[in-house]
Formats: sequence, C-alpha cells, structure tokens
Amino acid sequence: MSVRVVARIRPLLEKELDKDVVVHADRVEEGRGLTVVKIPNPKNEAEEFSFAFNSVYPQATPQEPLFTAEVAPHIKALFQGVDVTIFAYGVTGTGKTHTMRGGLRLAERGVIPRLLSNVFRRGKKLMKDTNGGTTVDVALSYYEIYNDKVYDLLEPPERRTASGLPLREKDGKTIVVGLSERSCEDLKDFERLYIEANTNRVTASTKLNAHSSRSHAILRVKVTQTTGDMVKESTASAIDLAGSEDNRRTDNGKERLVESAAINKSLFVLSQCIDAISRGDKRIPYRESKMTRILSLGQNSGITIMILNLAPIRSYHLDTLSSLNVSSRAKRIEVREIENEVVFKQPPRTNSGFGGAGINRQPLR
Ligand code: ADP
Ligand code: MG
Repeated sequence: MSVRVVARIRPLLEKELDKDVVVHADRVEEGRGLTVVKIPNPKNEAEEFSFAFNSVYPQATPQEPLFTAEVAPHIKALFQGVDVTIFAYGVTGTGKTHTMRGGLRLAERGVIPRLLSNVFRRGKKLMKDTNGGTTVDVALSYYEIYNDKVYDLLEPPERRTASGLPLREKDGKTIVVGLSERSCEDLKDFERLYIEANTNRVTASTKLNAHSSRSHAILRVKVTQTTGDMVKESTASAIDLAGSEDNRRTDNGKERLVESAAINKSLFVLSQCIDAISRGDKRIPYRESKMTRILSLGQNSGITIMILNLAPIRSYHLDTLSSLNVSSRAKRIEVREIENEVVFKQPPRTNSGFGGAGINRQPLR
C-alpha cells in the first residue's frame, strides 16, 4: 500500500494576467526538487505558510512530464496485478479536469488518455511477446457519485433511476450492482466511449457546470490478462473529484446544502484514508463514504496518487488554504520578516467542515 500526494499549480488564465499571485512552489533547500507550496497567511501577510508534498509542479508544467513522473511508473505494477488509483482534488477552476482529461490536442492530453494509451501499448506488446499465449482485455466503467448516489455514465440518462445504483459486498469487495462495462480495443474506441459518456453526464443535469463540480467522476479501467486458465485482473481508477470549495459560502439553497454535506463528508473521509495509508495504519476508514468504499481504498496492495490542483491567485486564497490543509502531508509556518514573532497559528477555518483537518499535523520543524 503506498500513497503519493503531489501538488500542481495551474498557470494564470488569459483573464487573470493582472492578478496577484499568492501561491508559489519552493524547495526545502538548494539543489533539491520542488516539494513545498508557499502561501501567505491571509491575516498577516508577513507570515508565510509552507506545506510539504512528495512533489510540487509549478505553473508552467505541461501534461507530459506530470504523467511521466507520477503515473507512467505504475503501469508496470498494474500489469503485475496491482490496483492503481489517481485522484484530482481541489477547488473548482483549479485544473482537475484539465489534469485528468485535458484538451484534444496531443500535447494537451491529460492523465486519462495517456494512461489508456500506455495500457493499450503494453497490452499489445505483451500479446505479441507471448505469441498470443497471453491475451489482454481492457474494459471500461465510468460512473459518477452525486449526493452519495451512484450513476452509470455509460448508460443514457433516461435509464437513470432516482435512487442510483445499489452497492453490495462480494468476497470482501464492494461492487456497484448493474454497473456496465465496455471492452475497448484501442485509444479511438476509448475516446468514442468517453466523449459519449461525458455527454451523458452533462445532459443528465440541468445545471451543467454546476453539476460537474458537485459530483465525483470515476473512470475505472479493468485489465484482464489470461494465460491458459490463469486469469490476472487489476484496475486503474482515475477520479475527477467534486470541487472542494465551500459551496455554502455562495448559495444557501436547500439543494446546495444537501450537496455540500455529501461532498464534504466524502472528501473528508478520503483525506482521512490518505492520511491513514501514508502513516501505515492498519485501519483505514474507507467504509465511511461510498466513493472510498467502492474503491476499497487502502484495502489491497494498491498504489494511490493524489494530485492537489491549485490556482495561484488571491481570489482563491481561503479555499486554497483549506485544501492545502486537507491534503498536505506536513505543514510548517515560516516567518519572512525577522522581527516578527513566530506564532504557530492555524490558517482560518472556513465553513467547509474539513477546513481544520490539518490541525493535529506536526510542523516539519
Ligand atoms: P476544475 O476541473 O478543477 O474545475 P478546469 O480543469 O476546468 O478546473 O480548469 C479551469 C480552467 O483553467 C480551464 O479553462 C482550464 O483549461 C484551465 N487550466 C487548468 N489547468 C491548466 C494548465 N495546467 N494549463 C493551462 N490551462 C489550465
Ligand atoms: Mg472540472
């Protein structure tokens, strides 16, 4: 069981070029890689908070190096039978969908199409190298969790039931009953399915963008390798999480409250699972939300990668601090001006319900 937590700071958008940048990538010391995110204390700008990660990707990082460093190394393990899970976590507008799905141009492709492309390539090579002795089948499932209900995105929206798909335990694993699965031959096949499914997601909802930022979208790639009567099965899951911002700050409608309660709960459980896995705990609280339960997070020898997406500008300041608190593996506070008193003060709590999740963490020094 292993977990990596990395941060990716997105570049400024066209309309943000004159905005104040408050989030920076840094290193622990000269000559080391970027592993620290720095952000001022909104209550005292002379003070700076630092958050430590396994790696930090600064504004200019293209899609390819992120994939090559964080995901590509695990594809071998996937073919050895290890489950791989990749999350994009962060406030709406910070680059989760860009990171996972990306754009249509080759260089803009995100983690998901690159993962699929590598899986197909490796599968084909394996079949060739074994002269067909081993066959490799790649099957996709794609679903979303909205208000703690599971909806199949490979099915047209009119076939959705209000209660969503039920879960059931089988051989110690959680299965989504009735979730469809489609076999895929190549990247073209995948892209056709994926585009169609993303259209299902949008047409199933009346409030397009609002909806996608309030549900978790989970793509599951099942790799089945068959050699004679031996079958090896493993899955790679790529998850574009619901926005971690405090929805209640902008809208107090009843529907929003139900949504944010569901989002907060599942993101909180997720961060607790990540913490527990990285500490090497025996007990992972994965059963406490549907998302972590379906993924059986931490229940096998799996590899988990969490990518925290960050927008560098001031208008995201409080939400950025809140998501750094949840996902950073260690935190310290630095004082820029020598005459300032060193105070180990926590960033302000937001109403998101998990803004204080980092409170018990140890400062690095
Ligand atoms: P989220 O899914 O977290 O709400 P998006 O992925 O939709 O955020 O990103 C918000 C905007 O920022 C989009 O216009 C997207 O194209 C742009 N963007 C995000 N990350 C990057 C990046 N690394 N490079 C260039 N543009 C980016
Ligand atoms: Mg998105």
